[in-house]
Order: sequence, then structure tokens, then C-alpha cells
Amino acid sequence: MDLEEKREKRPPVTPMMIEEEAALRNGSRGLPPGSWAEAAGPRPRTTERHIAVHKRLVLGFAVSILALLAVTMIAVLLSVRFEECSAAADGPPRASGNGSLPGAARQPPGAGQSPGRPEQEEEEKEARGGEVVEEEEEEEWQRRRELPPWTRPRLPRHLRPLHYNLMLSAFMENFTFSGEVNVQLEVLNASRYIVLHAHRMHIEAVRVAEDKLAGGVRVDRSFFYPQTQVFVVVLNRSLEVQKSYNLKIIYNALIENELLGFFRSSYVLHGERRFLGVTQFSPTHARKAFPCFDEPIYKATFKISIRHQATYLSLSNMPVETSVFEEDGWVTDHFSQTPLMSTYYLAWAVCNFTYRETVTKSGVVVRLYARPDAIRRGSGDYALNITRRLIEFYEDYFKVPYSLPKLDLLAVPKHPYAAMENWGLSVFVEQRILLDPSISSISYLLDVTMVIVHELCHQWFGDLVTPVWWEDVWLKEGFAHYFEFVGTDYLYPGWNMEKQRFLTDVLHEVMLLDGLASSHPVSQEVQQATDIDRVFDWIAYKKGAALIRMLANFMGHSVFQMGLQDYLTIHKYGNAARNDLWNTLSKALKRVGKSVNIQQVMDQWTLQMGYPVITILGNETTDNVIVISQERFVYDIDAKPKDPALGDSSYLWQIPLTIAVGNTSHISSEAIIWVSNKSEHHRIPALEEASWLLGNINQTGYFRVNYDIRNWRLIINQLTRNHEVISVSNRAGLIDDAFNLARAGYLPQNIPLEIIRYFSEEKDFLPWHAASRALYPLDKLLDRAENYNIFNEYILRQVASMYLKLGWPTNNLNKSLVQASYQHEELRREVIMLACSFGNKHCHQQAATLISDWISSNRNRIPLNVRDIVYCTGVSLMDEDVWEFIWMKFHSTTAVSEKKILLEALTCSDDRNLLNRLLNLSLNSEVVLDQDAIDVIIHVARNPHGRDLAWKFFREKWKILNARYGEALFMNSKLISGVTEFLNTEEELRELKNFIKSYEGGAAVSFSRAVETVEANVRWKKLYKEELFQWLRKSLTH
Ligand SMILES: [Zn+2]
Repeated sequence: MDLEEKREKRPPVTPMMIEEEAALRNGSRGLPPGSWAEAAGPRPRTTERHIAVHKRLVLGFAVSILALLAVTMIAVLLSVRFEECSAAADGPPRASGNGSLPGAARQPPGAGQSPGRPEQEEEEKEARGGEVVEEEEEEEWQRRRELPPWTRPRLPRHLRPLHYNLMLSAFMENFTFSGEVNVQLEVLNASRYIVLHAHRMHIEAVRVAEDKLAGGVRVDRSFFYPQTQVFVVVLNRSLEVQKSYNLKIIYNALIENELLGFFRSSYVLHGERRFLGVTQFSPTHARKAFPCFDEPIYKATFKISIRHQATYLSLSNMPVETSVFEEDGWVTDHFSQTPLMSTYYLAWAVCNFTYRETVTKSGVVVRLYARPDAIRRGSGDYALNITRRLIEFYEDYFKVPYSLPKLDLLAVPKHPYAAMENWGLSVFVEQRILLDPSISSISYLLDVTMVIVHELCHQWFGDLVTPVWWEDVWLKEGFAHYFEFVGTDYLYPGWNMEKQRFLTDVLHEVMLLDGLASSHPVSQEVQQATDIDRVFDWIAYKKGAALIRMLANFMGHSVFQMGLQDYLTIHKYGNAARNDLWNTLSKALKRVGKSVNIQQVMDQWTLQMGYPVITILGNETTDNVIVISQERFVYDIDAKPKDPALGDSSYLWQIPLTIAVGNTSHISSEAIIWVSNKSEHHRIPALEEASWLLGNINQTGYFRVNYDIRNWRLIINQLTRNHEVISVSNRAGLIDDAFNLARAGYLPQNIPLEIIRYFSEEKDFLPWHAASRALYPLDKLLDRAENYNIFNEYILRQVASMYLKLGWPTNNLNKSLVQASYQHEELRREVIMLACSFGNKHCHQQAATLISDWISSNRNRIPLNVRDIVYCTGVSLMDEDVWEFIWMKFHSTTAVSEKKILLEALTCSDDRNLLNRLLNLSLNSEVVLDQDAIDVIIHVARNPHGRDLAWKFFREKWKILNARYGEALFMNSKLISGVTEFLNTEEELRELKNFIKSYEGGAAVSFSRAVETVEANVRWKKLYKEELFQWLRKSLTH
């Protein structure tokens, strides 16, 4: 699964939401009470809004329910014997579970109702009855001193699904569907209970049969237990061990308006709104689409059939085997049986898209499905083309063929994530897969490429071999994220993604987060279903990827690759936990004669939070001996006592430290030292007076390195004299380490600023990118300070000469981006961004000229790769008319990427009235999409003129914002961190603490992280701001 916007500066992530739904959450649409869904569906105690959604469809569905009731009544009258649970799946009132009469359990929906009774009263009675049964069942178990199996957070292990036959009918005209699932069950331990997941559906009938042909096992009763999202079938006798049974459930549900489970979405074609139904099951939403054992360990085979109107087509993981047409314009597609797989990457869709296709060398048919106009324009061709090449790449790299006969890529208008790796039917939000190379910037192309590389990697890591449980979600997400860089290198060999861009976009990014005392380990314990969403965060993705990269480097890439091939071959179609991976990799190492206990090493990195800072002291000893020590890196040293674990000396890592010795013209080859103690002495040969030491070569390790000041000075001299002796990635690594060590107080403030003095000669993109990202938070700490100009001027001096050398890009629309020099264009963009944002006059003039030209000619000739910089600079410098012009363009443009940068540009204004106006408009769903509103507020908070406005706005509107985004955890934490991360005064810290006190609610983790960050900011300013300004003053007068 790919979260949103991976290449933004800040770590964001985020399920999107749709306007209508937000309106429901805000309570702006009430509907009359009384609906089938409320009467019969499960009653999760916390999801009133879903009930509201249900209610809205009552009218449309009433007719089919009435018909259904009539048919069932007739069936009962005709005494059709059918072992089933009552429609009142919440449980009809009954005296005692075990002793109830069989007949009572056989009552069909509504059969027990006395005619003319008010519906409302009946609902209430049923609900009460459900609770009574539940309580009695629970008491029975309490007497046995055991927790009832349905109340436990995980499914009981006594049953295993072997095969599902799932038949669905999708009614797109009223957004409902009905289903019949037949699950073949294997009994591992005898039990009278069948407990499986089912959520927000109406169950009509349940039947259990021994084998397929033998007689039924009577169902005593059945009920939902919403707290654990399960459905419980109680039988009149125990299922016998090693026998196989068939569980049949007939149910119906809504094609939901929220973007999870089986949900609907729409788009406009030729002025007409068209709908589609598509699924998002990961991590725990398959249970909303069919009753199932919805945990990744329960792998089974699936045979799916979908009945739909012939004007639509249906898709699923496997190809269609046969289609049966009915006379009334309906068709049933029968799909081939899947291999063994988990429920979370099962998928289907009902839509009227068109497609283009290609075939890989090994015969896999790849199709891209999208709305017909996009297919006609060829917007999917880029994705289709790279997908074919990437399947070939992965088949070759893993030496395991792609497992299914086809792979469909589905581009949908709305989706909660950037993409989802469903096996054979991967779903992407349009902005992450459709691309027109002639109007896309490099970063847009890179985004699209990397999302596709990511989802394709999951076809092996995740789909073919699946983590046992969600605590190891980082195993699949870390791999897919790491391979984004490896796979992109395959497509564009010159881009050096894994060696270079990985550092700034993954390693540096996640070390910011993981350097907080309130971080968490990459392997997280997961108990409740509600915890599961929480594990999909940047720590799992980015730290996971960084640890895998460290592992690949200390193992050696070819041994690592061999190990992965073994791992996939051994565990294919099965599940594996992290220890399975460590064991296979250890064996691969052993085969080449190396012995490292990978599990022992990696457990320290995956089970402990945070990361170490290594300090290398070279000049305090004699005889070529250096002292290497490790401690946990934290930004706020004061935060240490709050966490007792931090003071604990057991907080240690086994660190594969690579080290090299350099002098003015040469650097030695690297040696690896395993550091496992708090402090160690090591002998380094050829350590001369003027030679410097460099640790963590090419920053392959997940840690920071600090040196004695003398060594830092030698490195700075080296960079000034001849920076190319030190590799590009090491230069970027030194810059990021130095800025962050200084920010946390491990290093004097002037060292990082002295390092970037060689920038007039730096022609590589990566060090610039690293510096720009590290300068950014520093800038935000200083931007409201009295002496800010000194800092500003210092940065401008370092940027000026490269800015002059590189100049501005021309807008050559004929040249394909793919052929453009990525390194050169990205470098130029980075330098222009620094120049314009720190106030280079020429840069400002150039931006203003380009904007004026656009306004006067009404032709946008601004080069694609710098449009965001030009718009923002224009808005901040020029008058209100420019703001209005950009506002107008934001409304009129249809290109998604363009719309977003126009909106963000509006937040760059110096005019507080305009910023306030924008903040207020941002909550109007008609004007700003819900997912974009968050970006507006965050960007206003980044603007020094708007920071207090955004902070005030956030507090005033918190109730509305929390109602909108509260359930989408990623979104809420992105908003909280975005608005608070640059607060840095005592007053603001007090305001934050008071605000949290006054608020009771779920986002506790995000708020404690926010407090820690602001405390660290305040502390930094108190301790180091003056030191920095003093040094800057002195430096500028020289
Ligand atoms: Zn993923």
C-alpha cells in the first residue's frame, strides 16, 4: 500500500476523504430515522455517521427489501427447511442460548413480527434482545473462567478457511450488493462456535453442512459482536477435528460512500456522472464486503463470481473464465480460482472503464483500466509501459515468476491511499498513475514511477509472501519502499536513486521523526483492530526501508539478492515473520563463508525505537587508536529523563560502522567495524597527523556520526580544497548529520554553516538537496527573530555563485522529461528555490517578470519544473491582483498537479487579510477538496506571516477539523504536526499545552510528539540562537 505524497518535505500521509462524507460527519445532512440497516445491521457503538450513510439509502433499498421479505415469507409458509440464523443478526430475544427451540432459530427475517407493530419499537426490542443473548453467552464463559472467543482481539485458532466461493450481485443503481459466501472450513480444535469477521452488513441466512453433501449441522443462533467486528455462529453440536465443513452465509450490504470496503466513486464524462464500485480491503475492511477470516495468516483460495448490469464490466484478481448473459441485460462473470492468498489484497471492481494492454516476455497480460477519455488521450501509456518492464525486472531479480496470468492496473478518481497492491488488480488514485509527459514536472513523473515500482514489488513482497501479522507490516512496506529506488534505477540507470536520492527522501526524513523520544519501534505490537491503521506510518515505511538498505549493504548486494530469492521461494503462497527472513539471510551469508547472526543484529534495530549517534574521537589517543562510542540520538536531551529506557545502558545497537581515512588528495577504501559496546577502542592503520576520519561511508547505516572538533575542521578544509575526494552521498550525509547534531546540541552551531561554505563549487544535486532540507527547519526557528537578516544574508552568499552559473531553465515543451537531465534540472530547481526563498533580487525579478508575462499574455510560459517556486514568489512579492489572478487560475484549471501548486502558492502571501480569507475558505468543501484543506492550513503555518493565524485557526476550528479527519489517523497527525512543528516561543508552548488539556480525544500520540518538538524548539532557541547569531555576525564582517 502506498501512502500519499511521499516526496513532500514534511512527512505526510493520508487517506483522502470526500466532500459528501465530511458533510455527513459535520452533521449537515440529517435523514429520517428508521431503516433496515439500523434494524438488522451490526451496531458499532462509535459509528453514527455510517448509520447516517445507511439511512440515506433507505428509500432506494426499501423496494428490494420488501420483495425479499415477501419471498421469504412464502418460503416459510411452504415450510422450506433452511438452517439459518434470523435476520435479526444482532440476535432475536430468546430465553436461553443452549436450550432454545430449533424452530425459533429458523425464523426468517420479519417472521416473528406481529403485523402493525411500530417498526421503531421492534428495532429497539431486537437490539435489547441481542445484548441479552450476548451477555448470557459471556456469563457462561465467565463461569468457565475464560474470555468468550468472540471478545478476543484475534480470531480463535480452532478453524481454518480452505476455500471461499463468493457470489456477488452489484446493484449500481441503488449502491447495494448482495452476496453468498461458501467457506470450506477445516477444524483444528473441536468447538461449537464459528467466529469470523463481518462488519456492517445484513445477514439473511446461515447454514453449516458437514462436507459438501452430508447433512447440516444445526445453527442454534448467531449474532454480531461489533466490538471485535465478528459474527458468531453457535451450533448445536461441536464441529469435529479434521473434518471439513461448509459454512454458507447469505447477506447484503451497501456499496459504501466512504472509501473503504466495497465502495463507490464517480467521475463525469461528457457532462454525465458515472459511477463505479471498487474495493479497498487493506488492512481490515474485507469484513465489510463479505464474512471472512480477515487476518493475513488465514490464506485460502477464492473463486469469485460477480453479477452486474451488462453496461458495466467487472474485474477481480484473476481473469474472467466465463461470462453468462441473462436476457434482462445482466451478466455474471465467473473468475478463475486464485492461488492461496490473504483477504486484505483480494479485490474487485465494477465500472465502465476502457483499457490498453501489453504483454511481458513471460506472457503476463498487463492492462491499464481508466476512464475512457484518459485512455483515449494515452495518459495511461507511461504506466503501462514501465509496468511491463518492471515485471520483467522483478522476475529476473527475484528469480520467481509473477504468479498470476494477468495484472490489471486500475486508475480510480478517489481512493483512500495513493495506491493498493491487490494481487493481479492493483488500484491507483488517478494522480498517481495517469501522466501526460508533456505537461508533467520531473517530480510528478518520479512520483508516478515510484508508486508503480512500489505496488509491483508487493506482488512478491506482501502478496506472494505475506507477513504473519500486522506488527511486521514494515517487512512488506519497508521492502516495497526500498525497491522504489532499486526499481527506478533499473528504469533510469543514470538517476542513482538507491545510492543518492534515498538519503534525502528516506533516511534523512525518517531520522527526523525517529530522533524524538516519543518515537516507537519499527515492529509495533498490535492487539486491537483499531491499532492496525496506526502501524502504517513513516516509521514502518521509511525506517523499514532504511534498515533493509543497511542490511543489503553489510551483507553485500549479491548475497542479499540470493537470500531474498531463497526467502520468496521457500515461503511463496504462505506467510512469513521477520525471523524467517533473518534465518534465510543468515544461511545465504553462511554459504559465502560469512557468519553474522542477522536476527541478533536486526532485533536491536527493529525492536528498539530510535537510532544511535556514533562519536569517533581520533585525536585523544596515541598509536593509531581511536575511541568509538554510541548513545541514543535525541533532539531534546531534556526529554531523556521522561523515558526511563533512555537512561538505561542496555539501549545499545550492534552497528556496522564503515570507516575510511582521508587526506588532502585521497581516501582509503572502507573498513567495517562492528560496534556493539557503549565505548570501544579500535586501531586504525595509516592515521597521520593531517588525515581525517569519515564514518558511515555513503551513509548506508541507519545512524548519525559525530567527530571531535579537530576532525570536523579537517573535513571542512577538505571540502573547501577539493570536495570531490569525498563522495556525493558522503557529502550529503555530512551535511545532514552536522545540521541535526547541532540542532540537538551535540555540535557547535557554526560547524554546519561552515560546511556549506564550499557550495560555490558544489555541482551535484544531492548535497544541495540535503542542505536545503536541513536549512528549512533552521530557517523556521529563526524567521521571526529580530536578527533574521544576518542568517538570510549568510545563506544567500553561499547560494549566489551557483545561482549565477546555472541560470534559469527555458520552457522547452517539446523535450520529453524522461530525456531531460534529471540531475541537472533538479539541481537548478533546488538552487533557484533557495535563492528565491532567501531573497535573491535577481530571482525575485525573474519570478515577477514571468508572472507579469503570464497575466498580460494569458499564456503560461513558466517552465514546468519551477512553476511552484515562481507562483509562490510572485504571490509573496506582488500585489493583491496577483493573488486574485492565481485564485482565479486555481478555479479554472483542471490539471490536478497544477491545481495543487496554485493553491499552495496562495499561502505564500504577506497579507494577513488574504491569509485569513484563505484559511476560512479552506473549510468550504465546494472550494477546496478536503484533503487539500489540510495542506492550506499547514502551508500558512510555514509562512512566518501566517504562523500565528494558522495556529489560532487550528485551535478555533479543531472540533470541525477533528470531526472531518479524526478517523483518518494519518490525516489528523499530519495536520497536528504541520501546524505545530515550527512553534518556538514559550508562549506558544504554553498555548499548546493548555489546548491539549482542554481537549479530550484520540490524537494523543500526535499531540505528545507536537509538545516534544515545540519543547525542543524552545530549548534550542534559549541555548543556541545567540551563539549562532554571534558567529554569523563575525563571519559576515570578515
Ligand atoms: Zn505498500
